[in-house]
Amino acid sequence: MRPFAYQRATDPSAAVQALAAAANNSNPVTEATIQPLAGGTTLIDLMKLNVMRPGAVVDINPLSPVWSTIDLDGGNLRLGALARMSDVAANAEIQRNYPVVADALKLAASPQLRNMATLGGNVLQRTRCTYFRDVSYDNCNKRNPGSGCAALEGFNRTHAVLGTSERCIATYPGDFAQAMIALDATVEITGKSGVRTVPFAQLHKPPADSPQIETTLAAGELISGFTIPGRWPRSIYLKARDRQSYEFALASAAIALDVGDGIVRDARVALGGVATIPWRAREAEALIKGQKFDDALAQRAAEAAFAGATARKHNAFKIALGKRVVARALHQAATMEI
Ligand code: FAD
Ligand code: SF4
Repeated sequence: MRPFAYQRATDPSAAVQALAAAANNSNPVTEATIQPLAGGTTLIDLMKLNVMRPGAVVDINPLSPVWSTIDLDGGNLRLGALARMSDVAANAEIQRNYPVVADALKLAASPQLRNMATLGGNVLQRTRCTYFRDVSYDNCNKRNPGSGCAALEGFNRTHAVLGTSERCIATYPGDFAQAMIALDATVEITGKSGVRTVPFAQLHKPPADSPQIETTLAAGELISGFTIPGRWPRSIYLKARDRQSYEFALASAAIALDVGDGIVRDARVALGGVATIPWRAREAEALIKGQKFDDALAQRAAEAAFAGATARKHNAFKIALGKRVVARALHQAATMEI
């Protein structure tokens, strides 16, 4: 690991100032000179691998407890960016009112990692593409812009089938983000000019032109929290993976339904493990809304969710698997006892 400076931020403005000090000459690809440090479970890994090489890290953990609160007030849920995955997953109110959030967190990583990892760090985790994480490969547009993409002709079994470009087909690896995008969450961002809020759906950028730029965060900005409007007791997260624990999704679905008198009044469908960014399947939602639910409808929605998918040599199975995951998750959400 390369040497780096370590700073502890004592309050949000100190954190933002410390980060902004290097913002102008930061290279967002790999050599951003200063990176925020939360749980460190992604950042330190990537620093050890030499993939990320910040000259300094700003430890934002002292901003807890203010940035790690869980508030269920006025019918909305606010989650601080420094809340630990395990604390949020174990919260009884979240399990009751937002099971999709609790499940997405519970099914991620391992207990030790969830105790350490924060929500803010989770949504900003970087891809697990082998060619990105192994610096012995030169051609990775995300790590080394303009160098090409080794995965296009390489081993691409775990890569994305939705939202890809000829520049990058890396899968967005997280689980929690699918729950956030499905529930129309907003992201609270703290920067030099104060606090701004954006829809979660606008946080991640697809790899169309510049795969190295993964989010719409400006240099020096921090995520301070997330807000989910309303309550979604009829919601679930279903995750298919190579082993039942401690593994990233091959295909997953975050589903939330509002059902009354047998009719689906609102439907949310988001996909994980199959796309380059957290993926909202609006075509699937449109098919279900206003309809009486049955499994044939779920199957049609699953087909619609993957209508635009493009397979590569080794990952075509993800399209068939993803459809089954969506159909089964819809069935489970529609029939769950609440
Ligand atoms: P850090 O490592 O501290 O930060 C991650 C990135 O976000 C860094 O670039 C950092 O600078 C930036 N950052 C952190 N907080 C903020 C903030 N508030 N504002 C702006 N920038 C910030 N995740 C899943 O979802 N599902 C899985 O199945 C899964 N399996 C895993 C298996 C292994 C073996 C490992 C190592 C990780 C796995 N993960 C999985 C990823 C894990 O959940 C993330 O590493 C973790 O959530 C990151 O949170 P952190 O607080 O440790 O982030
Ligand atoms: Fe790099 Fe993306 Fe290609 Fe992986 S898929 S090698 S991250 S450009």
